[in-house]
Amino acid sequence: MTFEELRELDNQYVVQSYGRSPIAIGHGLGSTLCGVDGKEYIDFASGIGVLSVGTANPKWQAAVTEQAGKLGHISNLYYSEPYIRLAEKLCTRSGMAAAFFGNSGAEGNEGVIKLARKYSWEKYGEGRGTIITLNRSFHGRTITTLSATGQDVFHKYFFPFTEGFRRAEPDINSVQQTAGHDVCAVLVELVQGEGGVLPLDPVFVQDLARLCADRDWLFLVDEVQTGIGRTGSLFCFQQYGVQPDAVSFAKGVAGGLPMGGFLVNERCRKVFGPGDHASTFGGNPVSAAAACAVLDILDEEAIARVKEKGQYLRDSIEAMNLPCLGRTRGMGLMIGIEVTEGFSNKKLCAKLNQAGLLSLTAGPGLRLLPPLTITKEEMDKGLAILKATLS
Ligand SMILES: *Cc1c(COP(=O)(O)O)cnc(C)c1O
Repeated sequence: MTFEELRELDNQYVVQSYGRSPIAIGHGLGSTLCGVDGKEYIDFASGIGVLSVGTANPKWQAAVTEQAGKLGHISNLYYSEPYIRLAEKLCTRSGMAAAFFGNSGAEGNEGVIKLARKYSWEKYGEGRGTIITLNRSFHGRTITTLSATGQDVFHKYFFPFTEGFRRAEPDINSVQQTAGHDVCAVLVELVQGEGGVLPLDPVFVQDLARLCADRDWLFLVDEVQTGIGRTGSLFCFQQYGVQPDAVSFAKGVAGGLPMGGFLVNERCRKVFGPGDHASTFGGNPVSAAAACAVLDILDEEAIARVKEKGQYLRDSIEAMNLPCLGRTRGMGLMIGIEVTEGFSNKKLCAKLNQAGLLSLTAGPGLRLLPPLTITKEEMDKGLAILKATLS
């Protein structure tokens, strides 16, 4: 089908809840995608941080097809090998104790929210269910994770939202002022993604972890976007010198198949017992086999290169001195670019997409989340498009 035919059918049969670019992708390889009209695109977006090992990665493909031919689903009423191997890999490499698997980032965050409330209920009883989140955060689209999200634009129409969230600035005094006797946890992104690629100050994060330990609040970290190598370590918290009580993950974990979940530390491993939490598709064998392949591809060496690649992209973009762009920021291959006043990030992003470089916005700026396996040649092609389009 042509792009025009696809657009017409989408208009007719699909709920119009997305503002899509006028582009339809047919296939791809690595960080190079091909439109249904044959046009080539360099991928600096990776399906919003999902295609961690690129499109149609051969090792990922082999793991998926092999598992699909063996066992595609078998409920959590039974044991199966893929999710167990995955849990072992994630725990060994993160220092966490145990994993729970669901299907999305929002579901991972719902899980850590329930975890914190049950942990607190069992120790302190009723009235201690409030969770502190930060301004400019994003935690998902369910009613509860929208409540947790620290941006007013998300708090419309869908009332009543879930109670029990209070917002603070990423500043230890603000958190202390916000806190009361009703708090059981804080939930933070270490680099706020949708909010504009805003890394938290390490001193604040360490103070926050200490405050949580002092008050017996759970320290919950949302690594849905920052996790699985994106920032140059398997999880971003490993670079902040803190150990969370629970970490949610999703986007990049299964390299393009739906999977999310959370990891807990030793003290939280027993909070959920049989019947307390579940997910029908959680730990699906195909998604889990894909995720095992992703973690094998993203070994220590591949993750170390993420930082070099990120630095290369940032240095190259800053050296272009484009009038519409300001400084870059971020960690690893999670890059934010300031947009100069008078320019619209949405228009710049649309121009880049049309010119053959898939990119993203975040907050008032641009955002780049290329596949972690992107090659030097692909980065250079993308940079050339960026320079030619925005000059
Ligand atoms: C994308 C994202 C989510 C939501 O993930 P879904 O899979 O869309 O539910 C939650 N938190 C952060 C930090 C995200 O970037």
